[in-house]
Amino acid sequence: MTEPPRLTPADWQQGPRYGGLYTFLRAPASRDLEVADVAVVGLPFDSGSVHRSGARYGPRAIRNASAFLLPHPYEPSRALPPLFQSLRIVDYGDLPLDPNYIAYALDQVADHLAPVFARGVLPVCLGGDHSMTLGVLRACHRHDQRPLSLLLIDAHPEYWEPPSPERPYNHGSWLRNAVAEGLVDPGRCVVIGLRGSNFLAIVDKVRAVGITVITADEVAQEGVAHALALAREVVREPLYISLDMDSVDPAYAPAVGVPEVGGLTSREALALVRGLRGLPVVGFDVMEATPPYDQGDHRHPGRQPGV
Ligand code: MN
Repeated sequence: MTEPPRLTPADWQQGPRYGGLYTFLRAPASRDLEVADVAVVGLPFDSGSVHRSGARYGPRAIRNASAFLLPHPYEPSRALPPLFQSLRIVDYGDLPLDPNYIAYALDQVADHLAPVFARGVLPVCLGGDHSMTLGVLRACHRHDQRPLSLLLIDAHPEYWEPPSPERPYNHGSWLRNAVAEGLVDPGRCVVIGLRGSNFLAIVDKVRAVGITVITADEVAQEGVAHALALAREVVREPLYISLDMDSVDPAYAPAVGVPEVGGLTSREALALVRGLRGLPVVGFDVMEATPPYDQGDHRHPGRQPGV
């Protein structure tokens, strides 16, 4: 039998990284779920924001920045395996989300991603405001009715009571919705990076439903290894991981919808994510990147890391 051709990112020596189609990590653009282990999916939507909007531009900005990360054969400091040799990664493109009707956009996310989960392809979603994670969790639930374990890295617990039952959706209430809908098992849910005044107002409610809380101060004082050990005691299969960029301190990541001082350093955030290796992950997202509030482009063509 002949091996199917391996998917590889575009070769930077055959065409510059600042040209061509901007896919995530310059992966092949494809919606063929037969050839993929991982599908990178853009969720360009920000009508769930209650504060600064602009996350609808997040997927493009992340793809743009990612063009200068790869291809490198390995990361010497960590001895990571070559990404594209261990996984078949495609960029699925953006979902066509209605910008004006959040309930409809959530249905669109669930309808598009349900077949991705059903095929056993791991979606990596690029937000978009955090309300869209609810649509991803609903998609997963259509395929597998077991309540998900959730690892959320976020400044906020996403557990605000919505203003009225008729207006249930916004980017600060989606975890509450997910628990109410039975999508997530709160006893298998960990939130890392919490801080700020709105967190203090709601932390008792969050803990009362069984969600494990690891504050940003705890990460700073006890270390990333401590947070990871605690998180690994709580999570189980099937696990969904959601990373809100506002978990990182605005000194490093100012381009978010709701910035909070006293956050993770970029080094801590990287160590947290790298420390999740081996967990039974069925889906992952990076949310709330809000490019209009960014300061400078750290990945511009003149500054290629490692080159
Ligand atoms: Mn969030």
